[in-house]
Amino acid sequence: MRSARYFLTFALSLIGAQALAQSNPTAELLSEVIRVNTSNPPGNEGAVAELLRPKFEALGFEVSIIETPAAGKAHFIARLRGDGSKRPILLAAHADVVGVERDLWTQNPFGGDIVDGYVHGRGAIDFKGGLAVFAEAVMQLARDEVSLARDVIFLAEADEEGGSYGTGWLARNHWHLIDAEFSLNEGGWIIKRDGSDEVRYVSISTADKFSVTLRITAAGHSIHSSMPRPDNAIFALARALERLSEYDSGVQLIPITRQFFQTLALTAEEPEKIWFEDLVAGTDAARLARADRQISVDPLLRAFMRNTIAPVIIEGGFRTNVIPGAASVLVNFRLIPGTDVAVFIEEVRRATADPAIIVEILTGADESQQAALARLQQRSRQMPSPEDTELYQALAASARQQYPEALVTSYLFQAGTDAGAWRNRGVPVYGIYPYPIDQEDLSRMHGNDERVSVQSLAEGTEMIYRTLVNVAGAN
Ligand SMILES: [Zn+2]
Repeated sequence: MRSARYFLTFALSLIGAQALAQSNPTAELLSEVIRVNTSNPPGNEGAVAELLRPKFEALGFEVSIIETPAAGKAHFIARLRGDGSKRPILLAAHADVVGVERDLWTQNPFGGDIVDGYVHGRGAIDFKGGLAVFAEAVMQLARDEVSLARDVIFLAEADEEGGSYGTGWLARNHWHLIDAEFSLNEGGWIIKRDGSDEVRYVSISTADKFSVTLRITAAGHSIHSSMPRPDNAIFALARALERLSEYDSGVQLIPITRQFFQTLALTAEEPEKIWFEDLVAGTDAARLARADRQISVDPLLRAFMRNTIAPVIIEGGFRTNVIPGAASVLVNFRLIPGTDVAVFIEEVRRATADPAIIVEILTGADESQQAALARLQQRSRQMPSPEDTELYQALAASARQQYPEALVTSYLFQAGTDAGAWRNRGVPVYGIYPYPIDQEDLSRMHGNDERVSVQSLAEGTEMIYRTLVNVAGAN
């Protein structure tokens, strides 16, 4: 029954490829979810939970909606029971999104409109698209009455993009609902060749970079602006920032990134191929520098091989006739796992080349500098999820089946995710944005006119569905 229906679904989806370019159930679900504005803050993820509840309940899922102490903020958990012979698999997707600069969008960011084969709106890529793919794939298991060896848990999370009640909070308070043998989350990419629909590689993230925000403060003297002194805090901060903009922590490869660039070397043409080979070899300083320069034209690849620096918020001054006593900037760093955070902060301090500049960690509420440093050092030591699990192997096999021409590799996700709640407890987490994408669409993530193609959503749903049948299906 299971395989007959499964192959029927598969065959129909192939026949329907043309029709799918217009719309399909995943695209329609994504449209609905985009229409719920979950810009965080405040998030309002409870509205997504209420949207999903009837769809899952109708298919026999056990649904829990976990309210958080913040009004309107809730996690949605739906469990499809297996026979219990294996431990559960979890599919996790955050329901919140970052806000928008409305004037810079040409489409309604909360319209979910399907235009020219794309679903448009905030979260289309990050990560309501993935939420829709994961949801549709697990609901298809129920519709197809696939007999399951393990429970399949679908989780739509709150507070991934910020806030206090994300998966860390959920894990501390309701672990039994989300405990699993392994989990899928956001992370790696299905990258198309430029100007083509051919998929070049599929990366599955097994670790994430981690985020450290430092506050860099220059002090001066508060004084009437009619009598400026040489120790102007804003000038001092500007000079420190100028020096910091020249600072580069340099190329650092770890085993995951080495494997990734080896894969790129295999799928690239010259001269790119040579650059990737030189980067991985890392033996000739001049060739390495050239490879870094050339490869770093792509901001994603640049971020992948180094600790990155991004000033994000400037603070200082309050009146036109007062020179402020201090000015500061918040700088967000994304660090490669294994980085010694204390050493890194010291390097940043040296890079500002001004002993009067104060560099401190932007801590959590009621957290000391020392506690924040300890937390970050511990995060830096978190091990990547192993590749020899049933889930990693099934996802890789499913990706190869879907895209026979593509290579599959593990990946260090360049941003952060909320996978730590599981990885910290020893549960492997594998990340993928489950839709083929090109550089152009990738640049819209957290930017303007975010979108995902309907065809990509259909392919991703098929790939995840097949993975689930392999990992969770009873043989
Ligand atoms: Zn995300």
